[in-house]
Amino acid sequence: MAQASNHPRLPMIPWGDVRRRPEDRGSNSVMEIHCPLCGQVLKVPSRAINTRCTHCHKHLYLENIVIADLSGRTRINTCGDVVIEANGRFSGELQANSVHVSGRMIGSMVATQRVTITRTGKFAGVIATRELQIAPDAIFQGEAFVLHEDESVTHVQGDPIGA
Ligand SMILES: [Zn+2]
Repeated sequence: MAQASNHPRLPMIPWGDVRRRPEDRGSNSVMEIHCPLCGQVLKVPSRAINTRCTHCHKHLYLENIVIADLSGRTRINTCGDVVIEANGRFSGELQANSVHVSGRMIGSMVATQRVTITRTGKFAGVIATRELQIAPDAIFQGEAFVLHEDESVTHVQGDPIGA
């Protein structure tokens, strides 16, 4: 792993200010989230599935998404978590809190917290996240940028795309 000083996608997100969204959405209480686009705190009802950032005014989706088969979407942008199941297929751009890949994905993803690629997972493209877990049997083609608490970036080189 070599250190990389910057990455074009990372500076857009004030990662140090981004915090994990509370998981409990069963109550009617208000939760605090950090806008992944501007980093500011906003209060939203726990059951909300979308909102508008009161600071940067961008529309934010809060839903958790499970991709069980071939997804027709080419762009997913949520403050929730995304799971690509073993038979799931997604190609395009994905931004989420965390992404769990057990199926196949081609494209680019930004996960403000964590990316996991399991032993059945295959990913080709570019990843930017804060915590990256790749199972030994997983297929990882492309590259990843892992941003640490001290704002240093670890560059993780995968296999060549298409190999
Ligand atoms: Zn915002």
